[in-house]
Amino acid sequence: MKHVKYGKCVRCGKTYEAVLDLTSCECGGILDIVYDYDYIRTRLTREKLAGRTEQSMWRYRELLPIEETTEPTPLRVGWSPLYEEPRLAEALGLKRLWVKDDGQNPTASLKDRASAMAVAKAREAGARVIACSSTGNAASSLAGNAAAAGLKTYIFVPSRAPKGKVAQLMTFGATVVSVQGSYEDTFELSKQAIEKWGWYNRNAAINPYLSEGKKTVALEIMEQLNWEVPDYIAISVGDGCTIAGLWKGLKDLHAIGFIDHLPRLISAQAEGCCPLNRSIETGEPWRPMEENTLADSIAVGVPRNADKALMAIRESNGLAVNVSDQEIMAAQKLLGRTCGVFGEPAGVTGAAGVKKLCEQGKLGKDDTVVSVVTGNGLKDVANAIAACGEPITIPGDMDRLLAAFAEKGVTVD
Ligand SMILES: *Cc1c(COP(=O)(O)O)cnc(C)c1O
Ligand SMILES: [Zn+2]
Repeated sequence: MKHVKYGKCVRCGKTYEAVLDLTSCECGGILDIVYDYDYIRTRLTREKLAGRTEQSMWRYRELLPIEETTEPTPLRVGWSPLYEEPRLAEALGLKRLWVKDDGQNPTASLKDRASAMAVAKAREAGARVIACSSTGNAASSLAGNAAAAGLKTYIFVPSRAPKGKVAQLMTFGATVVSVQGSYEDTFELSKQAIEKWGWYNRNAAINPYLSEGKKTVALEIMEQLNWEVPDYIAISVGDGCTIAGLWKGLKDLHAIGFIDHLPRLISAQAEGCCPLNRSIETGEPWRPMEENTLADSIAVGVPRNADKALMAIRESNGLAVNVSDQEIMAAQKLLGRTCGVFGEPAGVTGAAGVKKLCEQGKLGKDDTVVSVVTGNGLKDVANAIAACGEPITIPGDMDRLLAAFAEKGVTVD
């Protein structure tokens, strides 16, 4: 990998050769992949990119830590749509608003970007088995992307994981361990099992290549905006790998001169579980919190990538916003009704944060915002129905239909 210099610890600065099984620093810090931007600039231009037909995250291969000969993974990951939403922008009082629907990835979440990277690196390493622990989406995306590549998976999820995600895991043929405990307990058990059996490790904070996959969401947003930088990009935060990856992508583009400045990040967490935002707000080191929110994908009481996430939010002069479960449910309904975009609770938490910041007057008519929807609502139908209600249920009879419409005050146009 001529374009990759090394992995560098974000805590102590120690560097490591970018070997295939690169993990965390011996000090416990997380590694960041450092590129040779001068070399990349000689290989990739905006024009060259514009001429590419590959419509997946692999169109950015010069900016990804893979060998030149590594094949794209089989499922189409990335190149999700970026919709401009003028009506929602107007309703919220923003100048312009875009929604990046990453629920349209093959297994229906942004995690596919990291899992495709895990599969690509596992293939480079000649590994046959990959393992991970996850609140649900990392698991289902790994299982799906690995199945397509003919690799075996061992997956650890907390027993609270929604049925939709578990159904994906079982369908993709993973060996699934549902851990009766918190995400923290799940992570620890997976770590011990991975050490014992030597599986390729897809745990996002530990494997530094994975946030390089996640960063492709930033590369796409900027290419889709024709390299015009929005004022803000909003995203939900659990472990912190996603927001850190987003920031890394933006910094890469800045370093190679594709964008001329950087946007500010909006870190959205659930009120009931916001250890990272609490640290931003108080200026104190983060401390664990209960995992008290219906947004299961970001119910992370002990964030695994706190260092990188906090650095990203601070460096970008970002905003931290916490939203209640009610606000998350309201955002789910709002995005569905004004945009036709169906996000899972954690998927719409960024949008809930944007709405709240607009109501607080922290965002307004001069601001342009991209809100990333990180996961699809079909992952968790129980919460969608709780947010949006039950249908009119009647026998197949016209008189009953008329009566029901009259009773519910439904007007027919
Ligand atoms: C994992 C996930 C997040 C948060 O990503 P982290 O890297 O844990 O911060 C947000 N939304 C969805 C749908 C996710 O699956
Ligand atoms: Zn270190």
